[in-house]
Amino acid sequence: MENKSKNESIKCSVSQCKHNMVTEDYCCLDCISVGTHEPDPEVPECTDCNSFCKRTGC
Ligand code: SF4
Repeated sequence: MENKSKNESIKCSVSQCKHNMVTEDYCCLDCISVGTHEPDPEVPECTDCNSFCKRTGC
C-alpha cells in the first residue's frame, strides 16, 4: 500500500488523479509541473497540471 502524505503547498481537488489525497483537497507530490495548452493563456482554465496521472491505468 502506497503511503501518501499531503503537500500543504499544493492544493488540488482533482480526485481522478492518482497523486490526489482524495480525503483532502491536496496533492501528495513534492513538486508539480504546470503548463498550458493555449498559445496565449488568459484565464485559469487555460492552464494544466502536467503531473496529472489518471488514477487507473497510468
Ligand atoms: S499531480 Fe496535479 S492534478 Fe494530480 S493531484 Fe497533484 S496537483 Fe492535482
